Amino acid sequence: MAARSPVEYAAGYPETEAAPAQKTGNFSARQPGCMACAGLTEISVDGLFDTRFGIKGSFEVRRCLQCDLEQLFPVPAPSQLKNLYERYYNFSGERETVYTTLRERFFSSLLYRLWIRLDEDISFHTRRGGGRLLDIGCNEGRTLKNYARNGFHAEGTELNETAAVVARAAGFAVFTGPLDDFTPDAPYDVAVLSNVLEHSLDPKAMLRSLGRVLKPEGEVWISCPNSQSWLRPVFGRWWINWHVPFHVTHFSPLTLRHLLDESGFGQIEIRQITPALWVASSIIARLFARTGKPTRQLRNPLLIFGLVLACRALLFPLFYWGNRAGRGDCLVAVARKTE
Ligand SMILES: [Zn+2]
Repeated sequence: MAARSPVEYAAGYPETEAAPAQKTGNFSARQPGCMACAGLTEISVDGLFDTRFGIKGSFEVRRCLQCDLEQLFPVPAPSQLKNLYERYYNFSGERETVYTTLRERFFSSLLYRLWIRLDEDISFHTRRGGGRLLDIGCNEGRTLKNYARNGFHAEGTELNETAAVVARAAGFAVFTGPLDDFTPDAPYDVAVLSNVLEHSLDPKAMLRSLGRVLKPEGEVWISCPNSQSWLRPVFGRWWINWHVPFHVTHFSPLTLRHLLDESGFGQIEIRQITPALWVASSIIARLFARTGKPTRQLRNPLLIFGLVLACRALLFPLFYWGNRAGRGDCLVAVARKTE
């Protein structure tokens, strides 16, 4: 690997506090203008670092003064992000380690189905139905199995070819490539963006692409972190959902609704949940994350399991309050194609 990582490079890029608004709404890694409306932005949080993999670099989240959307700054260029995903994030062929074996068994077990009923379902794994479902970013196909079990004809898209090969071997059709280039044989009834939209460099374009492959009145199901979460001030820069540099946008119920509305979706329903798993991850990050070092404790099944149980048992009144007060940790949105 080069002496200087792509993100270090991006993070070290000179910043201009009073940079003029961009001329277009297109994403730019180098200017702190809003990626959605090109408005001026101000810093809402600074000094953020990668609490998961130990990727070097310091980041900010900025809020648009015009449309209120919060976004990462600086954002690595698409080619840099691609390298980072391949190196740190996506499935890289890791199989049959203790962690992956336990994870695989857990996700296909009855215990998992009980678990998501007790905790929270961030991936729509409890929804039953029928018709054609497209899972965006299906990785090695673990979630496709759940959708298929629930009655859907499940297919996926995945940028990581290594992961797509595994999903195809399990019998699923998986498209690898930009969504813009995807022309399915038949339109879908449902498109799922489970913790995906916040990773996109252009969420509006992503939703419009999905509109194109959905049937009239087809549904999009979205889950993503809630920028209004009560856990954000509690954990500060260790809040697990900053997830720099991979989480590019941070949605509130209002900015998510606005984006859906602008992207050709209506009948928008947004509710909130607080997965104990996310709270446990924030606790682990707060206790163990160090700049430039991977946080191995985030992959310790016993620690995570213990903390999840403890959070669920002790903090449930706070979860209940947060979800109803608009301050849950995760937004869950269902919307219907209108255009
Ligand atoms: Zn804006």
